[in-house]
Amino acid sequence: MIVQEIWDQFLHIAKEEAGSRVVETWFKAVSLVKWDPAKRIAYLQAPNKFVKDWITRNYLELIQLHLGRLLHTTGVTVSFAAESVHEKKVVSESTVVPATTVPSRSVPIRSSLVHANGHINRSYSFETFVVGPNNSLAYAAAQAVTERPGRVYNPLFLYGGSGLGKTHLMHAMGNEIKGRHKKASVLYQTADRFVNEFISAIRFDKIHKFQAKYKNVDVLLIDDIQFISNKDQTQEAFFHIFNTLYEGHKQIVFSSDTFPQNIEGIADRLKSRLAWGLVADLRVPTLETKIAILKKKAHIGNEPLSDEVAHFIANRVMANIRELEGALIRVMAFASLTQQKVTLELAEKVLADNRKKNNGYLDSNTVLKGLLKCYPYTFDQLKSKQRNKEISFVRQVAMFLIKELAGKSLRDIGEFLGGRNHATVMYAIDKIEQLMETDPEVRKRIKYIEREIHKLTSQ
Ligand code: ADP
Ligand code: MG
Repeated sequence: MIVQEIWDQFLHIAKEEAGSRVVETWFKAVSLVKWDPAKRIAYLQAPNKFVKDWITRNYLELIQLHLGRLLHTTGVTVSFAAESVHEKKVVSESTVVPATTVPSRSVPIRSSLVHANGHINRSYSFETFVVGPNNSLAYAAAQAVTERPGRVYNPLFLYGGSGLGKTHLMHAMGNEIKGRHKKASVLYQTADRFVNEFISAIRFDKIHKFQAKYKNVDVLLIDDIQFISNKDQTQEAFFHIFNTLYEGHKQIVFSSDTFPQNIEGIADRLKSRLAWGLVADLRVPTLETKIAILKKKAHIGNEPLSDEVAHFIANRVMANIRELEGALIRVMAFASLTQQKVTLELAEKVLADNRKKNNGYLDSNTVLKGLLKCYPYTFDQLKSKQRNKEISFVRQVAMFLIKELAGKSLRDIGEFLGGRNHATVMYAIDKIEQLMETDPEVRKRIKYIEREIHKLTSQ
């Protein structure tokens, strides 16, 4: 078998195990140029030192393991063939026994950009969003924009504290625009990911592709724009994207935790553009709105909820809607766990110890503890490099749930789960998000795990 085929097979396996994003970003940039069976050395060629170092740091074990399997041996050493001047020579030797089928072409050096499109979450719609005096301006503006994207409020800037419905509204806009304007291309992205994607574009000399991706949309939704703070080069790139879209009457929507002028570490010219259109805030909901939200959520979940209990929970939770939802789920989970009806007494008991949560988010350890109740693995195994199909899946679910329930950054999640890099985390979250939409079994299982996690916080 020629080395190219071996490498292709390896790419296939790596895709299964590390995800296609990792393969697209890193492994496809690399080629296997020679295999020395006597010394058991696999010679790889990387396009630059950066890729070489990254792979060595993060994926060496994976390569050794699977190349070993494919080559029917163990103890494979990986060596990077450094200079491309030797390329021809190396290629001419690049065979695994039998040594007859030598590829005559030179080694293709491919690289590609991370395709990090955030998806639009279908369950976040205008219908499931409860309007109150705290968010009516933002809601009305969001609706107006979906009717005539790019024409009324451009950009639309939504700001407000954590858990007050910014992300929900942005997805609702995305869904609505896709429904109304079939041909419109809508791109939702968090600024966090935008930054990562930009950095990866620089590494691979794919800036044009990156710019084109963002400049060719009809609607661009950038969530949590404050994460672009102090990233000067990303801001510069974003500035150009903004100008192009704006001049083309394309709709731009931002969300942030503060008013544009108060975001620190953003260049003035960008700051002023953020506020060019309409700036609408989302505030803490009133008691009535909180009750309405609880009722709606209970209704969506097909759970009966009396006025009395809704009132009690709404009064109990001050900070934000994420926390409000968390409290509702805890009450419901406890009721189902103990097979009791949801009464005022029960809600009082469950929420008696309403420990101050971090903006309604749980901590990562609690999330993991609940998850591990559902699977026969230990935390150490999840952190380890073990990669059979099930443990990889559980690890991916862990990443997804920590993002959802603990609200951690990609980087923090990677650190927490054994020092994995953010691209792996991003891939995992995307994958589970997609499965949640397409695979009812996975959805059911994850909902079940979520309940287990919330039970821990209600005991
Ligand atoms: P943010 O992005 O502002 O931090 P999210 O949009 O993620 O907040 O909202 C947190 C949770 O609260 C989500 O589950 C969302 O569905 C819910 N939520 C927020 N505002 C509302 C609302 N007005 N009606 C219904 N649900 C809401
Ligand atoms: Mg958000």
